[in-house]
Amino acid sequence: MNSLNDKYEPVIGLEVHAQMKTASKAFCKCSTNFHAPPNTNVCPVCLGHPGTLPVLNKNLVEYIMRLGIATECDVRERSIFARKNYFYPDLPKGYQISQYDQPICSGGHIELAGRKIGITRIHMEEDSGKSIHDLASDESLVDLNRCGVALIEIVSEPDITTPQEAYDYLMKLKQLVVYLDICDGNMEEGSLRCDANVSVKLKGTGKLGTKCEVKNLNSFRNVYDALEYEIGRQIGMIESGNSVIHQTMTFDARTKKTSPMRSKEEAHDYRYFPEPDLVTVYVDEKWKEKTRSMLPELPQMKAERFKKIYALPDYDADVLTQDRELADYFESVCKHLKGNNSKSASNWIMTEVMRVLNDEKIGIADYWIDPVNIASLINLIADGRISNNIAKEVYTNMLLVKDPSNKQQNPEVIVNEKGLLQVTDSSEIEKIVRKVIEDNPNEAARYKGGETKLLGFFVGKVMKESKGKANPKTVNELLISNLG
Ligand code: ADP
Ligand code: ZN
Ligand code: MG
Repeated sequence: MNSLNDKYEPVIGLEVHAQMKTASKAFCKCSTNFHAPPNTNVCPVCLGHPGTLPVLNKNLVEYIMRLGIATECDVRERSIFARKNYFYPDLPKGYQISQYDQPICSGGHIELAGRKIGITRIHMEEDSGKSIHDLASDESLVDLNRCGVALIEIVSEPDITTPQEAYDYLMKLKQLVVYLDICDGNMEEGSLRCDANVSVKLKGTGKLGTKCEVKNLNSFRNVYDALEYEIGRQIGMIESGNSVIHQTMTFDARTKKTSPMRSKEEAHDYRYFPEPDLVTVYVDEKWKEKTRSMLPELPQMKAERFKKIYALPDYDADVLTQDRELADYFESVCKHLKGNNSKSASNWIMTEVMRVLNDEKIGIADYWIDPVNIASLINLIADGRISNNIAKEVYTNMLLVKDPSNKQQNPEVIVNEKGLLQVTDSSEIEKIVRKVIEDNPNEAARYKGGETKLLGFFVGKVMKESKGKANPKTVNELLISNLG
């Protein structure tokens, strides 16, 4: 397979639908609350009753502009909507309002480590309802709550060359829409949906091969797996003397295989035409500039700032800015640090905090430790009042207190109540040191005979005897003087 991978080169373009976080639908006042009982968020407009007229949700335009500007697209001053006609039970109008030849955003890019992936276009459209086939054995149910919810579609250029790059592109896009606060970015729950177009060509040639489009990719992992399988399948076809047929494929996450859904020959003819019920969307320079000036700090800029202000290495800055809320958490911890210990804060968050997030399968928003308490834990270590090991014990105790306003979550309180403060009083430590030497005469003799690496053995014993509370530096000094 390796030599074949040297011979062929995949070409990938992604079409991503992102559900917007607008409070109401794209063209009517219905709520977008996803927890509402089926078919309660509906009105004559989104049900497609005759005689009703759609009215564009201004926030949809605002949201798509945010992404368009953040990805350096041209934002068209005047764009129009089009009807995309097809019959489907969960689309009562018989057409979807979308944009066709005049999308609002075009010609942008997303930057991946050192590479730019072109964005052909980003346009506005509405979602369809949901058909539910597995609730009853002999009938299908239709829920129209989602019908008319605002979507944007982001179409990439065929610039992506590996499944990994497709994965990275999607992660970056997700990160962007979450930072921009326009979509919750959850692929598993369908708020980001991806169709992957892929073809293969002989390495070094310019002409693109015939592509297939893979649908039903509802996780980042599935996009990766589906592309990997599909690339292998297409290379296999060509190597065995066949040619790739232009068709739509579906992906089965269980078998990790793609299979044909329909061929493009029987594809829909959508008969696009300009939507007569909506006026031209007009965005003037003033609106664009206002949107641009209100953009939040984006991940890349934030990472640069973290490196500069907190003197963090590249790796830390990248990890902490993956998630806007995680970055905010880090900054709140730093605000309460006494000394210049932002690197310790970064370490604590990347290890101890993120471990809990992973174990509990939660985001930082649901992490229950107050950043002030993480800061005071780091301050305790920095002041030499507790050792790193004791700090872990304190942290375990903090985690047991789920309410951040509860005093018992405060490490100062825990340390005092449990008597965990580090012992720095050297006469007290010396007592322990003497006892440990007395209890281990053989090792003491060997140490005196030149086996100085036994120092570690004694340090361990003293620390254990002091229940981890002895100041390690003092322990070392006292052991050396008492053993010597
Ligand atoms: P269609 O008309 O079939 O919808 P488009 O030109 O609109 O095709 O492109 C849809 C997506 O497919 C885009 O993301 C584009 O980058 C990608 N694409 C186009 N041609 C190819 C190709 N030969 N191989 C892989 N992806 C492609
Ligand atoms: Zn409605
Ligand atoms: Mg297309």
